[in-house]
Amino acid sequence: MEADLITVEGALSKIEQNVSLLAPKLMSIKDAGGLVLAEDLRSKINMPPFRQSAMDGYAVRYEDKGVEHLELIGEVAAGVDASSIQLKQGQAVRIFTGAMVPDSADTVIRQEDIVHLDSRIQVDIWPKCGANIRPEAEQTSKGEIIAKSGDVLNPARLSYVAGMGVSNLWCYPKAKIAVVITGSELQRNTEELRPGCIYESNSYAITGSIKNVDNQYLKLFYLNDELRLSVEVFKTQLNEYDCVIFSGGISVGDYDFVAQILDDESVEKVFYKVKQKPGKPLFFGKRDQQYIFALPGNPAAALTCMYVYVNPAIRKMMGWSDFHTETINLSLKETIELKGGRSQFLKARQDGASVDVLEYQSSAMLKSFAEADCLVYLNGEKPCYQKGEIVKCYKL
Ligand code: AMP
Ligand code: MG
Repeated sequence: MEADLITVEGALSKIEQNVSLLAPKLMSIKDAGGLVLAEDLRSKINMPPFRQSAMDGYAVRYEDKGVEHLELIGEVAAGVDASSIQLKQGQAVRIFTGAMVPDSADTVIRQEDIVHLDSRIQVDIWPKCGANIRPEAEQTSKGEIIAKSGDVLNPARLSYVAGMGVSNLWCYPKAKIAVVITGSELQRNTEELRPGCIYESNSYAITGSIKNVDNQYLKLFYLNDELRLSVEVFKTQLNEYDCVIFSGGISVGDYDFVAQILDDESVEKVFYKVKQKPGKPLFFGKRDQQYIFALPGNPAAALTCMYVYVNPAIRKMMGWSDFHTETINLSLKETIELKGGRSQFLKARQDGASVDVLEYQSSAMLKSFAEADCLVYLNGEKPCYQKGEIVKCYKL
């Protein structure tokens, strides 16, 4: 009965309740880009660790302001320890950006503001006392929290913590994912098409929609609609994966074996069939620490389920607190009438603050999906959504 099916909202909250985070791993920082941190990190150093010149110029003592010529006694390049340099009255030292300012200097004069005369300089413009020096610990103090558990290690954050001396860190690892493509009619697109067959294409949509996982852990399997062999593969080859995604074979046809396999092989069903179009036969279940999705084979249905359900589940496993697919509210350009009372995801294009629902909405077709930049979500609680009405749209 259609009325007994779980709703889209119900299915999403079941996924949220049932999917746990993967066990954190101690990672080298070179492998941590894009991962979510599983610990609070503290800085190992002050940053800057010493008083640093912010300019190419001359380090001086401000009290010498007014002296006609300053005597140059040497230079400090970046990376040089300047702690033994002692400026006396009327002396200056050449200095470069990032270099250590000697303790006896309190100001750096920009090189543009002096005239160089052999071993002396004449200062044309004196800046304020303390100018062009980055104080020690100006940005960060040793021991300060520099990133929190749950933070995403985006390029800036990764670089920030690397600069504070962090080399290993606890992170949620990338999920290991198996994609199992079922269907005896499916051929590789490098082959001549045989009568009765079609080119296999869901593997491209499914793997392409999964972001932030390693190719090495995103494995494709291909199965004919043959029960015995499929059971064998399920029993022996899929155990090491955190998430298994079946494509096809979950409907009610005589050759749809996936539901039977999942039932027989002690997968705990969380839900099967969602009150939605496309993607009604979606299955979600668990086996030990593994999450299993079975998507209907119709291409638009499979990809819709990836965006709405599977990718959020994968992001949650990998520690993302903000794991849902991003949505935006837009106003309908045309009135839409629904039949059947199911929620619908419609291929659409955003146009400013409005949204255009495209032609070719069949779940068997990808033509409109290929043009779409969002999916309009209509919850199906009413038969008609009026032009101008604000609707939720999933961004693709
Ligand atoms: P199924 O859910 O297995 O009954 O498949 C539903 C429809 O989707 C059938 O027309 C299949 O031929 C088609 N289909 C299933 N899997 C794929 C795939 N991997 N690539 C392209 N079409 C598929
Ligand atoms: Mg099939």
